[in-house]
Parts: sequence; structure tokens; C-alpha cells
Amino acid sequence: MTGPILETRGLSAGYGKKKAVQGIDLRLAHGETLLVLGHNGAGKTTLMRAIFGLLKPMSGEVFYDGHAITGRIPARNVAEGIAFVPQGHGIFPSLTVRDNLELGGFVDADTAKKKKRIEEIYGMFPILRDRAGQIAGTFSGGQKQMLAIGMALMHGPRVLILDEPSIGLAPNLVGRVMESIAEIKARFDASVIVVEQNIKYSLPIADRVMVLKTGGVIYEGDPAPLNDHARLVELF
Ligand code: ATP
Repeated sequence: MTGPILETRGLSAGYGKKKAVQGIDLRLAHGETLLVLGHNGAGKTTLMRAIFGLLKPMSGEVFYDGHAITGRIPARNVAEGIAFVPQGHGIFPSLTVRDNLELGGFVDADTAKKKKRIEEIYGMFPILRDRAGQIAGTFSGGQKQMLAIGMALMHGPRVLILDEPSIGLAPNLVGRVMESIAEIKARFDASVIVVEQNIKYSLPIADRVMVLKTGGVIYEGDPAPLNDHARLVELF
């Protein structure tokens, strides 16, 4: 059996002297979608930032494909196949959709490969092709989210981390974004971590769930028990 593609062991991170997450053991298997749930301030973003290298862990380790990458800078992680879509998109609002995608693929100097990737991304999000020349800042929230995901896919990531992709979106768009995340696995052969507060829409796409509360893990396992209202109330 192959080991996880991404793993943390006893990872703690925070701000100043205060730990926001403590002793987290996270495992992401190859081809898996792991849903990380938790209320505001539970530590979800902090954990992802510490994994991706945006925040230096206080203790513990991060492994990618069996190699320790703890504290490695984000640019290196991107180049090696880890992509992070931050909360609030991280697109370039004054540039066109096409330029955003091109910039998303900056690591990849091979233009033929880049072109092929853009075509694959257009195949997944036809709206991006239709509006390739539009200034990204004029997009709706849902379109911006699709563009941000498209940018992250430009590197052909093996691990894709999405921080609250549903935030600020109308319910019908949340469903569309979640569907597209499920499609990514099939089309791009990536393993995915989705950080969410929106349980209803995100649970159906999860293979496994981790629930954080005040910086610690309070549930890890199958999504099915969380469909049970009583179980959710107990956890949250
Ligand atoms: P949200 O859903 O609101 O993004 P979250 O689960 O992602 O919440 P974090 O953003 O990781 O939670 O926050 C965890 C804790 O760390 C909270 O107590 C928060 O106030 C604190 N925190 C987050 N960012 C900072 C920062 N830049 N400086 C100091 N404390 C921070």
C-alpha cells in the first residue's frame, strides 16, 4: 500500500506565542477529497497556511509524498505540485481572465503545455473561455472562484488545497463550485483538501472528513455520520 500524498504529524502553528492549531495529524490519501470542517476561528486556515508554507509551524512536521517539507516556501511547494487557493480567491482583478490563467502557470515555462492546460481548464469551466478577454475584477463571486481554481490547476497540481471556496456565494453557485471540485479529481488526477463551513454542500463530495474545534481535531472519519443532525449538533 502506498502512503499518503500529504501528511502532518503533530503540527502546531499560530501567531506570536498563541497556538491556533495544536498537534494536528492530518492524512490525505492519493486521489482522496478530504473535507476540513469547523466554525470561524477553529484554526482551519492556520492549518492550511502552515502546510503550504505561508506560516512557519511552531512544532510538528509536514510530509509530501513521504518527504519532509516542513516550512518549505510556497513557491517551491507550487513547483513541486501543491496548489493553494486562498479564501477570497487571490486572483489579479485588473487583468483579463486569460492573463490570470497565464500567470497562474508562471512556474511552467513550456508554452505548448501551458496552452494545453488552458484548454483543459476552459473545458471544465466554459465560462472562462467565453469571457477570456474580460477583466477578472468584473466577474461575479462564483466566476472569480472558478478562475481561482483554474489558476491553481495551471501547474497540474497533485494536491489542491481550497480554503472556503463557497464563501460569499449564492447557494446555486456553491453547488456548481462543489461539483467542479469533484470533477477535478477525475480530470486532473489530483488529491484535494476542501476547507469549509458549509456542511450541506460540501459533505457530498467528501471521501473523508476532519472536524476542527478550537485548534484540535474533534472528529475524523467517514462523512456519513455527519449527515445525522444530532451528531452535528453534538460536534458543533
Ligand atoms: P475562518 O473560517 O474564520 O477562516 P478558521 O477556522 O480558518 O476560521 P483561523 O483563521 O485559522 O480559523 O483562526 C484560528 C485562530 O487564530 C483564531 O483565534 C484567530 O483569531 C487567530 N488568528 C488568525 N489569523 C491571525 C493573525 N494573522 N494574527 C493573530 N491571530 C490570528
